[in-house]
Amino acid sequence: VNSVNAKGRETVKVVVRCRPLFGKEITEGRQSIVTMDLAAAVVSIRCPETGQLKSFTFDSVYDEHTVQRQFYDESGYPLVESVFEGYNGTIFAYGQTGCGKTHTMQGKDSPPELRGVIPHAFDHVFENIGADNEKEYMVRATYLEIYNEDIRDLLGDDSKAKLELKESADGGVYVKDLTEVVVNDVASINRVMARGFKNRTIAATLMNEGSSRSHSIFTIVVEMSEKVNGEEHFRAGKLNLVDLAGSERQSKTGATGARLKEGCKINLSLSALGNVISALVDGKGKHIPYRDSKLTRLLQDSLGGNTKTVMVAAISPADYNFDETLSTLRYANRAKNI
Ligand code: ADP
Ligand code: MG
Repeated sequence: VNSVNAKGRETVKVVVRCRPLFGKEITEGRQSIVTMDLAAAVVSIRCPETGQLKSFTFDSVYDEHTVQRQFYDESGYPLVESVFEGYNGTIFAYGQTGCGKTHTMQGKDSPPELRGVIPHAFDHVFENIGADNEKEYMVRATYLEIYNEDIRDLLGDDSKAKLELKESADGGVYVKDLTEVVVNDVASINRVMARGFKNRTIAATLMNEGSSRSHSIFTIVVEMSEKVNGEEHFRAGKLNLVDLAGSERQSKTGATGARLKEGCKINLSLSALGNVISALVDGKGKHIPYRDSKLTRLLQDSLGGNTKTVMVAAISPADYNFDETLSTLRYANRAKNI
């Protein structure tokens, strides 16, 4: 049950984050073809063959020197604050495998400076709750992945079981039998996340052994209740933390047979997401094609309407990634309000 926030309006923010060149890329003499103007939020990419420069403007751009904390403070923090005001919010990491989606969303536990958006969001949620003596809170977490357009519960006993998307009487969408865990503190939500993270389906591709071919969605629901003049006031906000599957085209990774089919379905969800977001930013009255994929159906109540969305496009600076990087920038650019 979401209360409508009077200040509420839909917002989609699109940001780009560029990883550093890897040690191996440097020793192989790879060139960086990406430059950023941080103040103007412009990213430019140079075609390694023609030298032609293409530039794109976003809401923010982050270069290789951006530390995790800064990224969270600017792109994650406002979403969590909105959840406490009763908004639904979603942050997506989009991009080619190996460009920093999981680094941005999850990061590493140690050293603590490497912790990503998700652990920072956990801290933030429980800091807010701890600082509030007025309201009562309940926090629930779910963690699922979409693999091949099948939904799997990352917190259930059987992570192979396919779950069904159902429509409730009020038109909302939910996942039948999805495990929901009530969490009371940071330690327990971190344990929940770690358990699900281990369960994520891993399939290697030629691009990056062990890369994930699935979309994963960690969702935190914060319910708040408060007595005002003896009357109970209730509201809830929901935060979706989404690590998307790699956006690379399958031909480049040498995929054949079953893997190729998998690639098509992955790209179906990604293109449906792109269409939904661009329809949202295009404005009022436009048909929003939520129904075209599991990902967009599932996130329907958190995309558009009284919600906030951050799309993070993760890119590589390396010359040999030119095609994929350009395609990621174009995808992200479509999602941006002009
Ligand atoms: P993806 O999830 O998009 O496939 P990863 O997040 O796994 O990519 O990143 C690939 C590698 O690059 C990892 O070793 C990760 O630690 C490193 N990496 C990615 N982004 C950054 C960054 N901004 N700064 C430092 N290392 C990064
Ligand atoms: Mg990853």
